[in-house]
Amino acid sequence: MKKILLAGQVPQDCIEMLENKFELFKLYEAANRDAFLLEHGDKIDGVTGGRIDAELISQLPNLKVIANYGVGYDNVDVGAASTRGIRVSNTPNRLNAAVAELTVGLMVSLAREIPSNHAYVKSGRWASEGQTPLTAQLAGARVGILGLGRIGKAIAVRLTAFDMEVSYHGRTHQKDQPYHYFDDLTDMAKNVDWLVVIAPGGEGTHKIITREVLQALGANGSFVNIARGNMVDQDALIDLLSNGGLRGAALDVFDGEPEVPEALRMLDNVILSPHKGSATRQTRAQMSSQVVENLVAYFEKGELLDPVI
Ligand code: NDP
Repeated sequence: MKKILLAGQVPQDCIEMLENKFELFKLYEAANRDAFLLEHGDKIDGVTGGRIDAELISQLPNLKVIANYGVGYDNVDVGAASTRGIRVSNTPNRLNAAVAELTVGLMVSLAREIPSNHAYVKSGRWASEGQTPLTAQLAGARVGILGLGRIGKAIAVRLTAFDMEVSYHGRTHQKDQPYHYFDDLTDMAKNVDWLVVIAPGGEGTHKIITREVLQALGANGSFVNIARGNMVDQDALIDLLSNGGLRGAALDVFDGEPEVPEALRMLDNVILSPHKGSATRQTRAQMSSQVVENLVAYFEKGELLDPVI
């Protein structure tokens, strides 16, 4: 039986499916991580869950495959894996709808101020104090998407149905797409009312949302991050949100999460979500199967279904 290391926790249904096929080693339950790896490291064939960095990879001398639980694999040192000829898979596509749905939900919540209006009615203030102020709408507004990939396209389709004017920025002009392409991110930010970030994290996009990009979005602009927190200059974001430099922000991810700066939490013009993009029961069950399917395909046929490398 092949031996799989769980470097971090994965959902219980994934563990149960894995247990039917493999022998599991739970690193996150070990009292002493190094001692656990010294004892079991050389037996491990595959790994999933949590952070899989160069140090961990070096402690697994017979590792052959990393099946990442998630489409974003910035938690995996792909370079270190590649040097050793270790294959890496991820979980693309099955989560597109869930992430796109939350993106739209956060945008509607921010524009129509749903959370504060909900609290207003709940508190009984409507009857005593009257109506709340008018809000904004998505229809007719311009949205720029950073990263028109699998999820970006699912977002674009939904926002088009909301009668928004969609454009995008990425490294490539995708000529088969019906949306306007900007080859410059700051230029796109200048020309939209909403900026949605859904490109991968990692070195290529670290702090790609600079103060300059946010200033280009401007005082009437709203910022949405559903990708990775470290893609944004978070201090500049907080500064601009606090001082009228941006209208608002809807954020599912944060630099340094789960810590969220108090200055950000205290703002009224933000909608905050604890990294819930793919976190629906249906999608997480699909992702659990996808991890297992990739490991089984690798060990039975020598092929990954969703290869990163
Ligand atoms: P894809 O690889 O399908 O799409 C990524 C897009 O980003 C591509 O269009 C690519 O276009 C663009 N891109 C990549 N690098 C750059 C760059 N340096 N500058 C500008 N654009 C770039 O990925 P998915 O749509 O499947 O997923 C996107 C990301 O969403 C994941 O990597 C993950 O981090 C995040 N995510 C967040 C979730 C959450 O819970 N909040 C859940 C799931 C995913 P081009 O190559 O033309 O540049």
